[in-house]
Amino acid sequence: MTQHTTGEKPGKATYTCNSCGQKVVLDDATDTLLPCPHCDATTFNK
Ligand SMILES: [Zn+2]
Repeated sequence: MTQHTTGEKPGKATYTCNSCGQKVVLDDATDTLLPCPHCDATTFNK
């Protein structure tokens, strides 16, 4: 598992919030990882 932080552009994938488990989908390689829409956490696992 790889950890990513808000502000990175880690590429197309589904990321899971470390704090609440909310899934965030980035569907473009240039998309920036934003804070979790559910709890505002800033770290995600791929
Ligand atoms: Zn969250």
